[in-house]
Amino acid sequence: MMKRSRTYDVVVIGAGLAGLMAALGARRAGAEVAVVAEGGGALELSSGSVDLLAGPWDALAEGHPYRLVGSDGIRDGLDAFLAAASAAGLPYMEDAEHRNQAAVTAVGSLRPTYLPAPGAAVVQPGCSVHVVGFQGLREFHPQVVAEGLRRAMPGLPVTWGWSDLPDGVTSLHPLQIARQLEEPACRRQLAARLAGQGVGAALFLPAVLGLDQAPAVRAELSAAHGGTVAEVPLLSPSLPGLRLGSALTRHVQRAGADLHLGARAVGAACGQGRIDSITCQTVAGAVAYRAGAFVLATGGLLGRGLDVGARVPGLPDAPIYETIFGLPVEVPAGPLAATELLAPGGHGFVRAGIRTDEHLRPPGWSNLHICGKMLAGYDPYAEGSGGGVAIATGWRAGLLAGGVAK
Ligand SMILES: Cc1cc2nc3c(=O)[nH]c(=O)nc-3n(C[C@H](O)[C@H](O)[C@H](O)COP(=O)(O)OP(=O)(O)OC[C@H]3O[C@@H](n4cnc5c(N)ncnc54)[C@H](O)[C@@H]3O)c2cc1C
Repeated sequence: MMKRSRTYDVVVIGAGLAGLMAALGARRAGAEVAVVAEGGGALELSSGSVDLLAGPWDALAEGHPYRLVGSDGIRDGLDAFLAAASAAGLPYMEDAEHRNQAAVTAVGSLRPTYLPAPGAAVVQPGCSVHVVGFQGLREFHPQVVAEGLRRAMPGLPVTWGWSDLPDGVTSLHPLQIARQLEEPACRRQLAARLAGQGVGAALFLPAVLGLDQAPAVRAELSAAHGGTVAEVPLLSPSLPGLRLGSALTRHVQRAGADLHLGARAVGAACGQGRIDSITCQTVAGAVAYRAGAFVLATGGLLGRGLDVGARVPGLPDAPIYETIFGLPVEVPAGPLAATELLAPGGHGFVRAGIRTDEHLRPPGWSNLHICGKMLAGYDPYAEGSGGGVAIATGWRAGLLAGGVAK
């Protein structure tokens, strides 16, 4: 059977944070853009807050993705992200002094992050806090959060308590609770049930306060409480991460990119350092996507853009493979995994990826740009740089691909 085929200026492979930013960058460059992706990426696991860098800039090695795009590139990417998120209904705010802010985690510790998710619990100086859990929601324990906060900020006045969920909430799955709390009657009843809890204190609740209508749910609860109502992210599923993923995805479509989810890229037609087309498997069969330029944003080992132990025909044995083009993967010397799960220096395998030039192209390729967790030489978890690298390199890869295509 003949393979169906589609033609664009730019095809972005992957719809995580890096791929979505690349699509916006390529649209900004005036290109006709398609995003093909198997699934939604790591955003649905993330806290929804954007980590730029927890440690010092000077410690970044030569060849680190931030050094490839430079400080202007990072600023451009952040501005593009802030504008896109705000247009999509998620107004992220930078600290006035451009410092990291301290977001509260599900165990009450404080995590440095550059852009807390809108409505995320952040402790303000001089405030007091009351943490409330919902009866039956096993993913959130107010006492654990309160004790963690007392340890992290000795002297901070912290209390905790429980509330029943509204009668209209019939499921205890966090995503279902969030959907049901978008019903006006349901959130009014929740506001009534919370009355009298933590008067005069900031109210910290589990992050299940709505999905697409979260700002309206939070605003109603804040008005009833008469003060701050903020959310503490659950470990999984993470509603703030899901909100960011779905808002950015809609924004990318509104910006004019074609989005093809459920499309797994499985191979490519290439010649003389150029990619002519990729082939995607979809439920409707194989589709060839032709383009002037391609962006690879397939998320490394966790995103499935890299694989362990899969043999790529025609290439020498290697411990880690790139799954579509068979690109050479840089694997750091030394052990791939540390003995401790939360080793301070991170794990070697996390730094595996594709080494590129400053145009984010792998050596020998003229119309392929790499971004996000596919890039070599950084550890988003140990450095606290996951969202920032995805945004800065995704945006730049999209602009470059758009320029190549035109
Ligand atoms: C549990 C967890 C929590 C995190 N929390 C935070 C946080 O709170 N803040 C923060 O800043 N960072 C966080 N990070 C890090 C950050 O989320 C990632 O570094 C970043 O989002 C990577 O984005 P990406 O677009 O490169 O990859 P991904 O988000 O993994 O996206 C990869 C995309 O490629 C697609 N794909 C893969 N292979 C193919 C193929 N062959 N064909 C088609 N599509 C394909 C996938 O379906 C997906 O759409 C977290 C990461 C994890 C794992």
